[in-house]
Amino acid sequence: MRVVLAQPRGFCAGVVRAIEIVERSLERHGAPVYVRHEIVHNKHVVQGLRDQGAVFVEELDQVPNDAVTIFSAHGVSRTVEGDARARGLHVLDATCPLVAKVHVQGRQYAASGRTVILIGHAGHPEVEGTMGQIDGRVLLVQDEAGVAALDLPVDAPVAYVTQTTLSVDDTRGIIAALERRFSDIVGPDVRDICYATQNRQRAVRELCKQVDVLLIVGAANSSNSNRLREIGAECGVPSYLLASGNEFDASWVLGAATVGITAGASAPEAMVEHVINALRRLGPVDITTMDGLVERVEFRLPAELAGIPA
Ligand code: SF4
Repeated sequence: MRVVLAQPRGFCAGVVRAIEIVERSLERHGAPVYVRHEIVHNKHVVQGLRDQGAVFVEELDQVPNDAVTIFSAHGVSRTVEGDARARGLHVLDATCPLVAKVHVQGRQYAASGRTVILIGHAGHPEVEGTMGQIDGRVLLVQDEAGVAALDLPVDAPVAYVTQTTLSVDDTRGIIAALERRFSDIVGPDVRDICYATQNRQRAVRELCKQVDVLLIVGAANSSNSNRLREIGAECGVPSYLLASGNEFDASWVLGAATVGITAGASAPEAMVEHVINALRRLGPVDITTMDGLVERVEFRLPAELAGIPA
């Protein structure tokens, strides 16, 4: 069986930075350090950090006084930031700089008197954080039907921002619906959607031209991994999301000559290997990596952690 690996795939710079913040904090402050929410949406990553002494909590009231506290890559609301300050917690913020950029854009739009419309998925921590970072009125839309349901006059001054991990195409459809609906609307360039999301989605579209089946390595609750699976399905290729080789089902690749593999931005390469090993149990595999972008993006660590080995 031929296996073609997507390029790029897997960890993005925001995820690498978030994991390093936890590891270096443990190095600098010793265990335990508390992390609000899964640092990134991947159980293997979370378990690995737990084994090193990180404690994952959902809310700040589960964090003891004086503890080192890390905010996840998804970002948090201003209420959470304020609560941490009021408690005097030592906070290290692992919010991805690209998510923080969306917060800034949203705040600027709100400050200029516009109602901000956030395109994203209800209940996702990034969406909750972003809504709570923007003063003034923020409305969430998840799809084009949501645009039609907005209770705003056509000439209301509005602006949109987007969750970073959506499919570029989905976003484009919703933005077009917003532009049809409102006469006074502004928003960032769609190219502002995170570089890693765009690159992984573009790579999957290319990969789908070469493969019979697509396997996406990533967690069920990972937004960007789910989008990759949806894109594979849209391209007409049977596409399956699996967190590791343990979830592999041999019937998925029955009769397939070429299997494509990609990985969401929070999926470690070790899990890609794990899936390849599951394929190897069916017979010999010939692995190649598709041509594609080599990403060189790196985000700076918080000053107090720079220079500490991870
Ligand atoms: S997917 Fe994009 S926005 Fe999300 S953590 Fe990675 S680089 Fe940041």
